[in-house]
Amino acid sequence: MIPALCSDRHVKLLKPDVRGVEVDAETRCVHYHSPLDIIAIKMACCGIYYACKDCHETLAGHAIEVWPHAEWNVRAVLCGACGCELTIHEYMDSGYSCPHCKAGFNPGCRNHYRFYFAPEDRA
Ligand SMILES: [Zn+2]
Ligand SMILES: [Zn+2]
Ligand SMILES: [Zn+2]
Repeated sequence: MIPALCSDRHVKLLKPDVRGVEVDAETRCVHYHSPLDIIAIKMACCGIYYACKDCHETLAGHAIEVWPHAEWNVRAVLCGACGCELTIHEYMDSGYSCPHCKAGFNPGCRNHYRFYFAPEDRA
Protein backbone atom coordinates (compact mmCIF):
# COMPACT_ATOMS: atom_id res chain seq x y z
CA MET A 1 0.00 0.00 0.00
CA ILE A 2 2.73 2.45 0.82
CA PRO A 3 4.82 1.74 -2.30
CA ALA A 4 1.74 2.30 -4.44
CA LEU A 5 1.12 5.59 -2.74
CA CYS A 6 4.74 6.58 -3.20
CA SER A 7 4.71 5.91 -6.91
CA ASP A 8 1.97 8.49 -7.25
CA ARG A 9 3.45 11.63 -8.71
CA HIS A 10 1.02 13.71 -6.70
CA VAL A 11 2.20 12.35 -3.40
CA LYS A 12 3.99 15.59 -2.59
CA LEU A 13 0.61 17.17 -2.11
CA LEU A 14 -0.11 14.67 0.62
CA LYS A 15 3.04 15.36 2.58
CA PRO A 16 2.41 15.95 6.24
CA ASP A 17 3.15 19.36 7.62
CA VAL A 18 6.77 19.75 8.66
CA ARG A 19 7.63 22.42 11.17
CA GLY A 20 10.98 24.09 11.40
CA VAL A 21 12.97 27.24 10.84
CA GLU A 22 13.10 28.21 7.16
CA VAL A 23 11.94 24.76 6.04
CA ASP A 24 12.12 24.22 2.29
CA ALA A 25 10.03 21.93 0.08
CA GLU A 26 12.27 18.96 0.84
CA THR A 27 12.36 19.63 4.59
CA ARG A 28 15.81 21.19 4.79
CA CYS A 29 16.03 23.81 7.53
CA VAL A 30 18.26 26.62 8.65
CA HIS A 31 20.36 24.14 10.64
CA TYR A 32 20.74 21.28 8.15
CA HIS A 33 20.53 22.23 4.52
CA SER A 34 22.97 20.18 2.46
CA PRO A 35 21.59 18.43 -0.64
CA LEU A 36 21.24 15.26 1.45
CA ASP A 37 19.40 16.78 4.42
CA ILE A 38 15.98 15.81 3.21
CA ILE A 39 14.39 13.91 6.04
CA ALA A 40 12.06 15.15 8.73
CA ILE A 41 11.40 13.32 11.97
CA LYS A 42 8.10 12.92 13.73
CA MET A 43 8.93 13.63 17.34
CA ALA A 44 7.94 11.06 19.95
CA CYS A 45 6.91 13.82 22.38
CA CYS A 46 4.32 15.58 20.26
CA GLY A 47 3.80 13.46 17.14
CA ILE A 48 4.61 16.41 14.89
CA TYR A 49 7.17 16.35 12.09
CA TYR A 50 10.11 18.69 12.57
CA ALA A 51 13.00 19.26 10.20
CA CYS A 52 15.48 18.65 13.03
CA LYS A 53 15.87 18.63 16.79
CA ASP A 54 17.10 22.23 16.82
CA CYS A 55 13.95 23.35 15.04
CA HIS A 56 11.96 21.44 17.65
CA GLU A 57 13.87 23.14 20.44
CA THR A 58 13.24 26.56 18.93
CA LEU A 59 9.56 26.10 18.16
CA ALA A 60 8.00 23.39 20.30
CA GLY A 61 8.37 24.82 23.78
CA HIS A 62 8.92 21.44 25.41
CA ALA A 63 11.69 18.89 25.77
CA ILE A 64 12.30 16.41 22.99
CA GLU A 65 11.63 12.74 23.64
CA VAL A 66 13.23 9.81 21.85
CA TRP A 67 11.41 6.87 20.30
CA PRO A 68 11.83 3.73 22.40
CA HIS A 69 13.12 0.82 20.38
CA ALA A 70 9.83 -1.03 20.91
CA GLU A 71 8.11 1.66 18.82
CA TRP A 72 10.47 1.67 15.86
CA ASN A 73 7.71 0.25 13.68
CA VAL A 74 6.03 3.66 13.79
CA ARG A 75 6.22 5.71 10.60
CA ALA A 76 8.25 8.58 11.98
CA VAL A 77 10.73 9.49 9.23
CA LEU A 78 9.60 11.52 6.24
CA CYS A 79 11.52 11.51 2.97
CA GLY A 80 11.43 15.13 1.89
CA ALA A 81 12.06 14.17 -1.73
CA CYS A 82 9.05 11.92 -2.33
CA GLY A 83 6.92 12.43 0.76
CA CYS A 84 6.98 8.81 1.89
CA GLU A 85 6.86 8.05 5.57
CA LEU A 86 9.30 5.36 6.63
CA THR A 87 9.23 3.42 9.84
CA ILE A 88 12.27 3.98 11.99
CA HIS A 89 13.40 0.42 11.19
CA GLU A 90 13.05 1.10 7.46
CA TYR A 91 15.05 4.26 7.83
CA MET A 92 17.79 2.54 9.83
CA ASP A 93 17.97 -0.23 7.21
CA SER A 94 17.80 2.11 4.22
CA GLY A 95 21.53 2.37 3.59
CA TYR A 96 21.22 6.15 3.46
CA SER A 97 18.81 6.36 0.58
CA CYS A 98 15.04 6.38 0.32
CA PRO A 99 13.70 2.85 -0.35
CA HIS A 100 11.01 4.40 -2.53
CA CYS A 101 12.53 7.23 -4.56
CA LYS A 102 16.25 6.41 -4.03
CA ALA A 103 17.06 9.95 -2.97
CA GLY A 104 20.21 10.01 -0.88
CA PHE A 105 20.07 10.67 2.86
CA ASN A 106 22.88 12.23 4.84
CA PRO A 107 25.04 9.47 6.40
CA GLY A 108 26.16 12.04 8.97
CA CYS A 109 22.69 11.85 10.52
CA ARG A 110 23.90 8.64 12.11
CA ASN A 111 25.72 10.76 14.67
CA HIS A 112 22.39 12.27 15.70
CA TYR A 113 20.24 9.16 15.94
CA ARG A 114 20.49 9.18 19.71
CA PHE A 115 18.66 12.49 19.86
CA TYR A 116 15.61 10.93 18.21
CA PHE A 117 15.74 7.16 18.55
CA ALA A 118 16.61 5.22 21.69
CA PRO A 119 19.29 2.60 21.08
CA GLU A 120 18.23 -1.01 21.14
CA ASP A 121 19.86 -1.89 24.46
CA ARG A 122 18.00 0.83 26.32
CA ALA A 123 14.55 0.04 24.96
ZN1 LIG B 1 7.79 17.68 20.71
ZN1 LIG C 1 16.48 22.68 12.00
ZN1 LIG D 1 11.77 9.22 -1.04
